[in-house]
Amino acid sequence: MKIAIIGGGAAGMMAAATLLEKGVNAEIHLFETNNVLGKKVSISGGGRCNVTTGITDRNILLSKYTRGNKFLIPSFYEFPPDKVMSWFESKGMPLKVEDDLRVFPKSDIGTDVIKVFEKLFKNRVVLHLNEPVTKLAPSSEKEFYLETKNNSYSFNIVIITSGGNAYGHTGSKGDGYNFAKSCNHTITKLGPSLNSFEIKQEWCKTLAGISLPNAKLEYIQKDKSKVSVNGPFLFTHFGISGPVTFALSSHLAFEEISKENPKEISFFPVSNSSFDFWNKELLDTFLQSPKKQVKHIISNYLPKRLAYEILTLCKVNPDKKSSEVSKEERKTTAKAFSGEIKLTLVSRMKGDEFVTAGGVTLAEINKTTMESKITPNLYFAGEVLDVDGLTGGFNLQSAWATGRLAGLSIAKKLVQKKIIK
Ligand SMILES: Cc1cc2nc3c(=O)[nH]c(=O)nc-3n(C[C@H](O)[C@H](O)[C@H](O)COP(=O)(O)OP(=O)(O)OC[C@H]3O[C@@H](n4cnc5c(N)ncnc54)[C@H](O)[C@@H]3O)c2cc1C
Repeated sequence: MKIAIIGGGAAGMMAAATLLEKGVNAEIHLFETNNVLGKKVSISGGGRCNVTTGITDRNILLSKYTRGNKFLIPSFYEFPPDKVMSWFESKGMPLKVEDDLRVFPKSDIGTDVIKVFEKLFKNRVVLHLNEPVTKLAPSSEKEFYLETKNNSYSFNIVIITSGGNAYGHTGSKGDGYNFAKSCNHTITKLGPSLNSFEIKQEWCKTLAGISLPNAKLEYIQKDKSKVSVNGPFLFTHFGISGPVTFALSSHLAFEEISKENPKEISFFPVSNSSFDFWNKELLDTFLQSPKKQVKHIISNYLPKRLAYEILTLCKVNPDKKSSEVSKEERKTTAKAFSGEIKLTLVSRMKGDEFVTAGGVTLAEINKTTMESKITPNLYFAGEVLDVDGLTGGFNLQSAWATGRLAGLSIAKKLVQKKIIK
């Protein structure tokens, strides 16, 4: 019995570790393009590796996936974030949950995650590092033909864990989509997700480096439904970035965005604030401090430079005393807090997306086993599937969980065939 895993990233490493843990009596071969395992995993989370999330509520957790959340239910039942955490800790890697519920190794060193697997695999997994798979096809009812640059192999079971096509220099170039197709699977439309945007408005760019703890962005889609996301926001020298921008990009993954086809969004510098709230809030504050310059009052709510910029956009002299601000000017300012400021997205920042939206069509995969419904003994896990989530550890969580479930299902299948130790 020979099992091939194509891709030594998060899903592939977890699948291999699970097969070992379950004592599967088979040769486990792990193919990896790079000369190291988990290149993308180790650079994730700014090199600290945001392993998973501290969110325990299942519905909240599933809401963090823009695509594939229902598909993930069985794998998350098997391997939810708290089990992922205890799994890593049981392997000698302590974790910490930060205030925003992102989970990192206590050491803040992403490569520590890889070390966990390297230790487990020593002399137990046949590691084919620096050996990218170039071809995969079913060769008979019970075997797959697998080709690499220098060799060809046959395997009884194959798990495709070769990731998406984001950050291709880490080795994930979308090869898994071709392997899936050669095994009769279909691939959905693909698009970038979790990226920054270039913005038309020049005033934004002058604010590069300014961040907001909880801004809101809204976009009205073609079908008139509204995408509304909130969270930390960042102005950059080209436009906008930060978690809330990434969340927006996740919803716009398949929209054409270009100078010829720009998209207008509403920008709320403070989330969840209505015009009525801001109109009253500003009125009250102006009355309380009539002699204070309006720029200083607005700076109580926003970073100074942004406050100044917003007043300028509203055509309110920032140096005016608040008692001199007219009712109309106050209303214009309140509107600026409640979505009146529009930003025009003119392009995605090329190549800075963290994940690929779309992938292997989920209807073709058994979500309780990760096995193909089309080609028996072929399994999929991780980002190669049409599953993707927001930032915050959710993409690694789905890779660990689906990789785990693939490993467990194969172990179960082999027990039924009595080829387990
Ligand atoms: C900069 C960045 C930061 C990120 N930060 C986070 C984060 O903090 N938290 C989070 O949850 N997610 C994060 N993500 C997303 C997360 O890293 C991925 O979603 C996750 O790694 C996907 O796991 P995977 O196993 O499916 O694919 P990958 O981890 O991409 O692994 C696929 C592996 O397959 C190998 N491979 C590809 N083709 C072949 C082939 N033909 N033959 C052999 N091997 C092949 C690749 O070299 C790669 O090692 C980040 C992504 C990026 C780019």
